[in-house]
Amino acid sequence: MSDSVGEDYQLETLAVRAGGQRSQFNEHSEALYLTSSFVFDSAAQAAARFSGAEAGNVYSRFTNPTVSMMQDRLAALEGAEACVATASGMAAILATVMALMQSGESIVAAQGIFGATQQLFGGILPKFGITTRFVVGTDPEAFRAAIQPGTRLLFIETPSNPLTEVFDIAALARLAHGAGALLVVDNCFCTPILQRPLELGADLVIHSATKYLDGQGRVLGGAVLGARAVVDEVFKFLRSAGPTLSPFNAWVILKGLETLPLRMAAQSEAALALASWLEAQPAVSRVLHPCLASNPQHALAATQQSAAGAILSFEVRGGREAAWRVVDNCRLISITANLGDTKTTITHPASTTHGRISAEARAAGGITESLLRVAVGLEALTDLQADLARGLATIA
Ligand SMILES: *Cc1c(COP(=O)(O)O)cnc(C)c1O
Repeated sequence: MSDSVGEDYQLETLAVRAGGQRSQFNEHSEALYLTSSFVFDSAAQAAARFSGAEAGNVYSRFTNPTVSMMQDRLAALEGAEACVATASGMAAILATVMALMQSGESIVAAQGIFGATQQLFGGILPKFGITTRFVVGTDPEAFRAAIQPGTRLLFIETPSNPLTEVFDIAALARLAHGAGALLVVDNCFCTPILQRPLELGADLVIHSATKYLDGQGRVLGGAVLGARAVVDEVFKFLRSAGPTLSPFNAWVILKGLETLPLRMAAQSEAALALASWLEAQPAVSRVLHPCLASNPQHALAATQQSAAGAILSFEVRGGREAAWRVVDNCRLISITANLGDTKTTITHPASTTHGRISAEARAAGGITESLLRVAVGLEALTDLQADLARGLATIA
């Protein structure tokens, strides 16, 4: 996989230039190749392309030049040897498991991972003989206790959603390797701009490109990154099974990556400012954000992420009714569970994203009725504060 700029460049430079390839027209902006298949010069070339003896595109379920540019740019940002793009974040997770595991093997996953990932691991994979143990809390010892013979993958998201708990990537990587397993990190919330798990020892990084990589809520996409030998296994599954990324979505994400460093910096800074402001509001009892000085995981977060990211949670005084009042008084902030957009969103996890799990499991997982999650976008901070202040004023 070629880089049109070397890896010595800074992230901001890689974001706009890495992976870019020009056609014979010498276009400045990366081209969108909307074609399902590619033509060969001869029968011999067709045979060589199909057998893999000659590198080159065959069919867009296998490879496509626009998708390749997006993969190369993201690989440069994550510092990964290889990247393969997928139709969505969930397709990336499914492809990883299907490519690397077999019946009888198991996964150890953090309890607070994305809802659909929990459903895939807990509800669907057991049909194929792959089981998952979910670990409560962030303590690596709890992960150690859950590992069994046949454990192939340790799976985390850090910081977690919605409680923003931080997992020690380097410690969990050592633990995984000691057990002959791989550490997989879903790096959706930080993106490579704020955290590069592969440099800390993780084996694979997963992305939902639907979130910050596109960053403007337009398309679905995903990616798996890591060492070439492992990513090649995932690619083999994808080219046969089919959940690959469309060239159009790849092009949107490729262009989205160009502004990723700026967006992550601005949204992250705004989230920290909003978290500090919320801490001072009398109607707010608790603010969860890994980079607040009040957070017990502040020091660990500082060792592995350069900023906190744009997601924060807070608890209001009172229960569900008080929390819903804050939501219902928002005129600007969107009431939706989506995140990673330039538009700020607010969610009441206990009645939406975590509404289907039992009240006991919610309590054990810290998802209280008074908890709200905000994914901060690019609006003016004062407008966001005013939008939340309206609802908070009805509580205090
Ligand atoms: C959204 C999300 C996913 C799934 O991504 P899709 O693109 O919606 O399939 C996986 N992990 C995390 C952390 C997410 O937020």
